[in-house]
Amino acid sequence: MKNSEQFNSLVEQLRKLPGVGRRSAERIARALIIKKNTLLRDLVASLTAADKELCCCNICGALTLVKQNPCRICNDTERDNSLLCVVEDPGDVDLLEDAGGYKGKYHVLMGRISPVRGQGIAGLRLKSLIQRINEGNVKEVVLALGSDVEGDATAQLLREALSDQLIKITRPAMGLPAGSGITYCDAWTLAKAINARQEL
Ligand SMILES: [Zn+2]
Repeated sequence: MKNSEQFNSLVEQLRKLPGVGRRSAERIARALIIKKNTLLRDLVASLTAADKELCCCNICGALTLVKQNPCRICNDTERDNSLLCVVEDPGDVDLLEDAGGYKGKYHVLMGRISPVRGQGIAGLRLKSLIQRINEGNVKEVVLALGSDVEGDATAQLLREALSDQLIKITRPAMGLPAGSGITYCDAWTLAKAINARQEL
């Protein structure tokens, strides 16, 4: 079983998911087959529904419904168009929204640069960020990135890329958890850090 092409293919697909190593992928694959009539088929149904109904917002990159694209935040006329918060991951948008207090808009980079892993700017949503700044009335960009080496490198790159823009560039005042973007920061700390942001 372990060497069958189908099983290996399933394991390889599962391994592409964030945080899933080979052993976990094999364990998940076995569990799916053992509970084929429930777990596997329910998962297939959820994946099919997600494929059909969920997507990333055309403008900011946050997760949204296919039938609500641009997303609720991008369409919200009450929110401040002059304030743009740049985050690494769509999950960071949810976290900042849960924290409350932030009334600007968002831009998800979909990753960050990593000098150690040789990951550059390719794949980051940088062009669309510059386009949004050029088109809109953005006055301030808040870089809500991780406070580790990769977060700093990404912030530095963004600062250089945006250097000829007539905008204020800020970062949250307090250090955010290293290596995880802002994902594991508690809501109170996050809301406070965003409100007390500092100019770079
Ligand atoms: Zn959006």
